[in-house]
Amino acid sequence: MNNFFETNIEFLKGVGPQKAEIMQKELQIFTFGDLIQYYPFRWEDRSKIYQIKDAHEDLAYIQVKGVLTMVSLVGTDTKKRLVAQLEDKTGVIELVWFQSVPFIQKFLKKGDQYIVFGKPNIFNGTINIVHPEIELFGENKSMEGYLQPIYSSTEKLRRFYLDSKGISKLQRQLLELALNKINETLPKYIIDKYKLVSKQKALEQIHFPDSPSTLTQAQRRLKFEELFYIQLKLVKQKHLNKTSFKGLNFNKIPTVNKFYNELLPFELTNAQKRVIKELYADMNTGRQMNRLIQGDVGSGKTMVAFIAMLMAIDNDAQACLMAPTEILAEQHYRGLEEYMQKLGFKIALLTGSSKLSVRREIHQMLEDGHLNVLVGTHAILEDKVQFKNLGLCVIDEQHRFGVAQRSKLWQKNKNVSPHILVMTATPIPRTLAMTLYGDLDISVIDEMPAGRKPIKTVMRTDSQRLTVFGFIRDELNKGRQIYIVYPLIEESAKQDLKDLIDGYESIARAFPDIALSIVHGKMRSKDKDYEMMRFAKNETKIMVATTVIEVGVNVPNASVMIIENAERFGLAQLHQLRGRVGRGAEQSFCVLMTKPNLGAESKVRLETMVRTNNGFEIADVDLHLRGPGDLAGTKQSGALDLLITDLSQDAAILTEARTTAVEIIEKDPEFKLTEHAPIYRHVQSIKHNAVNWARIS
Ligand code: ADP
Ligand code: MG
Repeated sequence: MNNFFETNIEFLKGVGPQKAEIMQKELQIFTFGDLIQYYPFRWEDRSKIYQIKDAHEDLAYIQVKGVLTMVSLVGTDTKKRLVAQLEDKTGVIELVWFQSVPFIQKFLKKGDQYIVFGKPNIFNGTINIVHPEIELFGENKSMEGYLQPIYSSTEKLRRFYLDSKGISKLQRQLLELALNKINETLPKYIIDKYKLVSKQKALEQIHFPDSPSTLTQAQRRLKFEELFYIQLKLVKQKHLNKTSFKGLNFNKIPTVNKFYNELLPFELTNAQKRVIKELYADMNTGRQMNRLIQGDVGSGKTMVAFIAMLMAIDNDAQACLMAPTEILAEQHYRGLEEYMQKLGFKIALLTGSSKLSVRREIHQMLEDGHLNVLVGTHAILEDKVQFKNLGLCVIDEQHRFGVAQRSKLWQKNKNVSPHILVMTATPIPRTLAMTLYGDLDISVIDEMPAGRKPIKTVMRTDSQRLTVFGFIRDELNKGRQIYIVYPLIEESAKQDLKDLIDGYESIARAFPDIALSIVHGKMRSKDKDYEMMRFAKNETKIMVATTVIEVGVNVPNASVMIIENAERFGLAQLHQLRGRVGRGAEQSFCVLMTKPNLGAESKVRLETMVRTNNGFEIADVDLHLRGPGDLAGTKQSGALDLLITDLSQDAAILTEARTTAVEIIEKDPEFKLTEHAPIYRHVQSIKHNAVNWARIS
C-alpha cells in the first residue's frame, strides 16, 4: 500500500490522539492501512425482524422491535444491573445490562419504540437478552444495511464509543477516502484465472457487503491474497536455499551399509526406505538440505534420522540431534549409544543438567572432532558449543523453532551451512505444514512398521472402574505392563497432584501383590529416572504418572494405557500418550476414563480417539475444533498471524495460492516481468515492515 495507508490513524476524522492511543493499544491499529485491514468477524442479517414470541434460546441472534414498558435498576452497589422490558404485539422480552449502566440508562425512555439485537438466553424461566444492541426505531441509518459488519471491540474501546458500531462508522469514512487509492496487488492474469474480484472491490465489500455473494467473493479474494503472499515468501526462501547455500556432499556410505547389513534390528518399512533415499539425494546436491519429516507417532522417524547422521559421519562431518525435553534427549541418546559403540564412533549427551566437567569435555571433543554425534536439548544452541565440522542438524521438535533459533544452528559451521532435518513430534495437517514449514521440503512416513496391531481404544466412566480393574488384572496375568496417566496442569496443580496420589493409593489397594511405580513432575529427576528405569526393566508392572511420560519411555511390553480425566487432554496429547503403547507385538489397549456428562467438544475429541489411530486424521479434527492458533507451539512462530484466513476451512484456496506462488518463483523469482509489476510493488512495500522476508543470517 502507498503512503496514504501509512497515515497515522490519529488523523482520521473523529479519531484524534486519545482514541488513536487506545486503538493502538487494544487493536494494534496504527495507520489507515491497519484499520482498513481490521475486518469484521461476523455480518448480521438485519433484514429480518422476529416476533418476540418466537425468541428462543437456541437462536444465535435475533432482532426484535417493540416499545419499552419498563426500565429499572435492580440489586445493590456492586451487583447493580439495569433491567428493561420490551413488548410487541406477541410478547415481552427482558433486556439486561451489567456494565455501562448509567450511560445506557440515560438513553432509554419508557414508551419509546426501539430496535433490539442480541443473543436470546433463558434465565429463571424468562427469555432475556444480555447487553443487547439497542437503537431508537426510525432515526438511524446504520440498520438499513442488508448485512451489517460486526467488529470485535473491547471494554476500553467501548468506553471511547468504539464499539462495533463506532468502528464501523470509522471504516465507512476511511473507505470513502481510500477507495480510489487502493492499488491492485495481484497480476491481472491471476485475477482472471481464479476469477477473483479486484482488491478495491474486495475491501469495500468485506466491510459493507451488498449481498451474501459479494461478501463471499470479497473473502475469497482477500484470503487468496493473504495466503499467496505468505506462500510467495516461503517458496522464495526455499528457492534461495536451493540456489545460494552450499552444503556438504555426503556421497560415501560405508558405515551406513555396515549398519544396514549387520546391526539394524528390523526391516525398514518402505516409507522409511523412501525417505532415506530422499535425504541421501538431497545431501548430494552440493546445496544445503532443508527438509521436514512428517510421520505418525511410532512410525520410526528416529531410525531414519540416525541413518542420515551416519551419512554425515561417513563423510567426515559431525551431526547433532536436538530434542524438546531432557527425557526425550536422553531416550534418543540411550537408543543410539549402543549402535554408535558397535560402529566405533563417539556420541554424547548435552542437556541443561549436564555437569560442568562433562560439558567441558564435550566442548573439547566437539572442537577437535573426536565426538561424532551430539544429542541434547536447547543447550546445544549455546554459543560455547562449537563443532569442528558440523554437517547435519536433526531437530526433533514439538514446537516450531523460530528463524532466529534455526539460524543459530546454521552458524555452527562457519564454512558450509549444515544440512537441516526437522522431525515433527506429531502429525500436523497439510494446510498447517504448508504454512508453518512451507520453506522446507517435506517427506512423509506414511506407513507403520509391520506387525503393529492397531490399538483398541474405549471410553469408560467412573461407574465402570471395577470392570477396568478386572481388565487390568487380566492383562497383568498375561505378563503385560500398564500405564495410568493423570493430567497435570499449572492452574490446578495442587488438586491434580492429589488426584494422582489418590489414584496411586487406590491402585495399591486393589493390586497389593503388584509392584508399582509413580512418576510426577514434582519429583527430582534422579528419582523419576530411577522409577522409569524400573518400569522399563519390567521390575514394576504399573506406572502411575502425569504426562511426564508423554514423550518419554519406550517400553514395548507395556500394552495398556489408561488415561484418567481424559476429557481434560487435547487431542494431540491423547494421541501422543496412546502412542506409548502398541509398540510390541501384542494387542494393545487405550482406556479413556471420563466423567459421565461430557461437553460437546470433549465428546468429539474422545470419540475421534475411539474411531481412529491415524494421527493425520486426528490432527485434522484437532485443527477444526481448536483452530490453528491453539495447536501446540504454533503461536510463537508468527506464521499464523492470519488476518482473514481460517486454515481449517480454506485448504482449497491455500492450494491455489501455493501453486501460483511456485509457478511465479520458477518463472520469475525477482518479479521483473511487467505482468508481475503488482507483485514487485507489493513486496517492496511489505519488505520494509517485515524483518523476515530475507533470510536472517
Ligand atoms: P517416532 O516416529 O514416533 O519418533 P520412533 O522412531 O521412536 O517413532 O520408533 C518407534 C519404535 O519403533 C522404536 O522402538 C523403533 O525402534 C521401532 N521401529 C522403527 N522402525 C521400525 C521398523 N521398520 N520395524 C520395526 N520397528 C521399528
Ligand atoms: Mg520420536
